[in-house]
Amino acid sequence: MNIQQAIERWVRPEIKALSAYHVPDSSGLIKLDAMENPYTWPESLRQEWLELLHKTDVNRYPDPQGNELKQRLRISMNIPEDAGLLLGNGSDELIQMLALTLAGADRTILSVEPSFVMYRMIALFAGMPYQGVPLKSEDFSLDLPALLTAIEQYQPAIIYLAYPNNPTGNLFDVAEIQQIIKAAPGLVIVDEAYAPFTDASFMDEVGRYPNLLVMRTLSKLGLAGLRLGLLAGPKPWLDEIDKTRLPYNINTLTQVSAEFALQHESVFDDQTALIRQSRSQLFAALDNIDGLTSFNSDANFILVRMPTNRANEIHAAMKVSGVLVKNLSGGHPMLADCLRITIGTPEENQAAINALNAAL
Ligand code: PMP
Repeated sequence: MNIQQAIERWVRPEIKALSAYHVPDSSGLIKLDAMENPYTWPESLRQEWLELLHKTDVNRYPDPQGNELKQRLRISMNIPEDAGLLLGNGSDELIQMLALTLAGADRTILSVEPSFVMYRMIALFAGMPYQGVPLKSEDFSLDLPALLTAIEQYQPAIIYLAYPNNPTGNLFDVAEIQQIIKAAPGLVIVDEAYAPFTDASFMDEVGRYPNLLVMRTLSKLGLAGLRLGLLAGPKPWLDEIDKTRLPYNINTLTQVSAEFALQHESVFDDQTALIRQSRSQLFAALDNIDGLTSFNSDANFILVRMPTNRANEIHAAMKVSGVLVKNLSGGHPMLADCLRITIGTPEENQAAINALNAAL
């Protein structure tokens, strides 16, 4: 049997049908495609960090529970004292652990659409059915009646709500989310990946519902390279999910570096405050350009609709001008003609506006 025949025989058809997750080459480009924090660390902090790393040994396995880091995260993120806390190698890994814990061919993962694509992808990896309930097309708000009907019909094991939502940038209505939590027979994960860019949060609500988990990540704060996500919620739930965690999933360098970074939180608070300011400026600049529709954002990116059928061409022209943004056109129908621009430094944002104007 040759390799192709063996693949035909053994690889799961739903995996074979996928194309691998594509990360475009961004070398030499202004990178505004992946919701990263554009700012690095001040030199003094970098030095202090290097000294800490110098004292760190990597011959031993990491702390399996990441206990010191967890303590720090509890303080930084105002995690209720009696809540359980689970760490993941990015929140992507937590989404995977959740699926592994609850998986079954008759157990649905439900989310809204358009939203973060990994909810659907990981359902597929875990062999679980996935249902996406469309958001309202005019403002990407929740369609509560449709969601309640879907909950009744599919009895989902897990519901994901990104708050703020990616790639639309908006927050959903609090009372509507609470109704969903109450109606859900299984878990509701409020995914607060973009928490650094909004004052809204469900973290305070953890413990008030038996089925609410809040997920966060350090990626958007400015530590995407460390890969650290966290899940807070009722301890009995997290104890079960923890059983699917690979031993030592948070490596020593991540534990040490994330804890160090959070001890110097004000550096990141200043950076995210700057990003929030730049978001208003970029929104105003985009709003000034004829023919574009920009959607209000509580995250570190702005979704922008281009004139009809021009998104691919504009995306390519911006790239030629040296600016890489995310082209969402051709994906979900509600994102037709849409590009998503991550907020960069003021200079990078200006470059994006210039590239966009030139492309139009
Ligand atoms: N949730 C949402 C809503 C996201 O947009 C992202 C990243 N794009 C993630 C989770 C994953 O973040 P990470 O794995 O870097 O923690």
